[in-house]
Amino acid sequence: MAEIIDGKKISEEIKTEIATEVKGLLDKGLRAPHLAVVIAGDDGAATSYAESIEKQCKGVGFMSSVYHLSGNTTESEFLSTIDFLNNDDEIDGYIIQMPLPKQVSIDKVTAKVAPGKDMDCFHPNNMGNLLLGKECYLPATPHGVVELIRRCNIDTAGKKCVILGRSNIVGKPLSMLMLQKGIDATVTVCHSKTKNMKQICKTADILIVAIGQAEMITADYVKENATVIDVGIHRVAAPELPKGYRLCGDVLFEEVAKKCGAITPVPGGTGSMTTACLLLNTLNAYKKKL
Ligand code: NDP
Repeated sequence: MAEIIDGKKISEEIKTEIATEVKGLLDKGLRAPHLAVVIAGDDGAATSYAESIEKQCKGVGFMSSVYHLSGNTTESEFLSTIDFLNNDDEIDGYIIQMPLPKQVSIDKVTAKVAPGKDMDCFHPNNMGNLLLGKECYLPATPHGVVELIRRCNIDTAGKKCVILGRSNIVGKPLSMLMLQKGIDATVTVCHSKTKNMKQICKTADILIVAIGQAEMITADYVKENATVIDVGIHRVAAPELPKGYRLCGDVLFEEVAKKCGAITPVPGGTGSMTTACLLLNTLNAYKKKL
């Protein structure tokens, strides 16, 4: 059986480090860091993520605000909210929850985000800096994955890393991070048009899966002793359970765990790392202003 990579425990360690630093700031009479979330409409996953961020901000001593706009909000109202956040000195950083309502242009929104408050690396300048390996706020989920790899001492230099998924928020930025000097993986990215994906996956020392397909990746995609990082998260019906559902990832955990060397579970793997890295970005944005 594979080693289970305990993302929850590692994220708790990061949050404890952050809380200690915040306490030090408050003891000096300084204000707490402040993270804001913008959300429009009633998407259940986005709303519960916003609630979870608020709770975790409180846990580390941050202030937080949620700007919950209606799903019918106009583009100009949405952009005014971004303007307000850009100009409020007491808000150190913010994220914008996807999906946006269809009347709001994602390109206009990302261009409007102040790069210094862009906690999820939405602004094209920040994405460009990420590509160039320059300092920027790393996007929370890819940041969480590389932090998990780093804190678990998983060897990446010269290793073959296959990433499944090329979205702008997970797969693409993650491929850039795994390529950076210091991480030094040899990276292949697959997507829905990739041919022979199973064969490519079987060459991976590190297989990172972010395709949004519940339990699609079975043991025959995985090389013996590989490290498997599952970014996917799904709620699937389970009428036999009191809640009526269970959570799972893009990887068929029970089967793959018998073959690989190490694996992240869902829940308890990459999910909690995302929020911890968001908090880390906010603390860093705050400290830049001291
Ligand atoms: P997207 O739907 O934006 O992107 C999915 C990617 O996977 C696309 O590049 C798509 O290819 C590719 N893909 C889809 N089906 C297949 C397939 N059968 N074979 C190969 N490639 C495929 O998803 P996200 O990147 O936003 O999210 C991915 C997963 O991660 C989801 O389950 C999501 O819930 C989860 N997630 C978890 C987070 C966390 O904090 N742990 C945060 C964000 C997301 P193509 O480009 O060709 O369409």
